[in-house]
Amino acid sequence: MVKSIGTILKKMEGKLRTLNTIPRPTALKELQREEGKDPLKILIGTILSARSRDENTTKVVHQLFLRYHDAKDLANSNIEELKLLIHSIGFYNIKANRIKQVCKILLERHGGTVPSKFEDLLELPGVGRKTANCVLVYAFNAPAMPVDIHVHRISNRIGLVETKTPEKTEEELSKIVPKKYWLDLNNIFVMYGQNICRPSNPKCGYCDLSNICKYFLSKKEI
Ligand code: SF4
Repeated sequence: MVKSIGTILKKMEGKLRTLNTIPRPTALKELQREEGKDPLKILIGTILSARSRDENTTKVVHQLFLRYHDAKDLANSNIEELKLLIHSIGFYNIKANRIKQVCKILLERHGGTVPSKFEDLLELPGVGRKTANCVLVYAFNAPAMPVDIHVHRISNRIGLVETKTPEKTEEELSKIVPKKYWLDLNNIFVMYGQNICRPSNPKCGYCDLSNICKYFLSKKEI
């Protein structure tokens, strides 16, 4: 039974490459590639990405930073104008206010820059463990374990962990996954979860992990 995370990641990447339409990288990976790891853009992208389609998140981040250039601009922005700029994003009212609050704190406590310490990131309003870990990975290239619904679901399905919450999954994955894989795991798992190991109707017949997948094997036994 293959349970080496390196092999699992390779199989996932290989399978993603064979899809008819090569899937887009996640919004944060795309921002990282296009924006040269600008921590503010990654942080704002992470805030905007919650419950939003990836392609829309990237588009809105680009639009936003054509109008505003740094944390100071965003902290001093007109809230109605800010809402209008991001209105295609779900929960844009809450997110516009959140962006202003976060940028004000960046100005007051961090000289307008995004901190690279996990604890400092967690102190920003609305920034939880997943967002803080995303900023570390995508903006600072620092090994961290962002766990969203896709990472949580797939890790449990294939039996890497047996957990009830993403927080517990983060804790368990951090213990068993060698650090050299931490920077890539989130992007690969999220792409796999969006395209193959979907929440409902996963494409198990197409997946090279079915021989080790607890979820698949348990269905077969029924
Ligand atoms: S076999 Fe199915 S449930 Fe298991 S990892 Fe593959 S797609 Fe997901």
